[in-house]
Amino acid sequence: MSGILYLVATPIGNLEDITFRAVRILREVDVIAAEDTRHTRKLLSHFEIHTPLIRYDEFVDAAKIIELLLDGKNIACVSDAGLPAISDPGANLVKAAVEKNISVCPIPGANAALSALICSALDTTKFTFAGFLPKSPKNRREILNELSTHKETLIFYEAPHRIKKILEEMANVFGNRKICIARELTKIHEEFIRADLISLAGNLDEPRGEFVIVVEGCTEIETFAQDNFLDAYKKLIEGGADKKSAIREVAQKFNLSRREVYNAVLDFENNL
Ligand code: SAM
Repeated sequence: MSGILYLVATPIGNLEDITFRAVRILREVDVIAAEDTRHTRKLLSHFEIHTPLIRYDEFVDAAKIIELLLDGKNIACVSDAGLPAISDPGANLVKAAVEKNISVCPIPGANAALSALICSALDTTKFTFAGFLPKSPKNRREILNELSTHKETLIFYEAPHRIKKILEEMANVFGNRKICIARELTKIHEEFIRADLISLAGNLDEPRGEFVIVVEGCTEIETFAQDNFLDAYKKLIEGGADKKSAIREVAQKFNLSRREVYNAVLDFENNL
């Protein structure tokens, strides 16, 4: 009989956010596979858990853990914070375990994306979790362009040092939308900055700590306007105008920045 792979949520700040079940499972399993053993050791010592720890991150072959599971060992997979496998190691391990018919069991708990979403005051009925944006500005722009027509709320994880830049890029691509920055969730300096994207992009001091960005989806008005100005653009091109002057004219007519029109045109051309 193989063991069970438990995916155990750990706190994203406040240590009280661990569940009774998580503590019990972490005590009972044979091994804990942790993203960073030094980090997890602190959590374990706080809760007086003495289970052996091994490292499991993107550089460790899942096969090592699978071998232990096939050998009948129960294993808890934890990341540094929140749910394993959400922008954290764990997803490959789950795939490998399922391929070998090993049972996978969630031990739910804290998660930064959902905690931010529920406090954002934006639509929670439909949302897209976009995780971390790519490092390369070109790839980032492609993803933002692709997301710009999504009607559902968008959730992003972000590293602290580049938020200003990212907000500027979002403002360029998305235009003005409601936004909520959830900073230092569950920690002493927890803060929610709810504002309009364009005004925030121009005024934000580089915030410290960890944060999640939640952005309103594309509104009906935006979609309507976009369809209209794309139609106007197409007519101008069909009438013989060059791309640059068509973009300038549409931007003037619809009171948009040339960049906004350019991005929509690019998006449109990429989806042809
Ligand atoms: N697996 C985690 C989860 O379930 O939320 C996410 C891990 S991901 C590597 C780390 C990112 O999550 C950070 O860059 C930040 O965007 C977000 N995050 C984690 N803890 C946070 C907190 N306390 N407050 C705000 N954002 C947080």
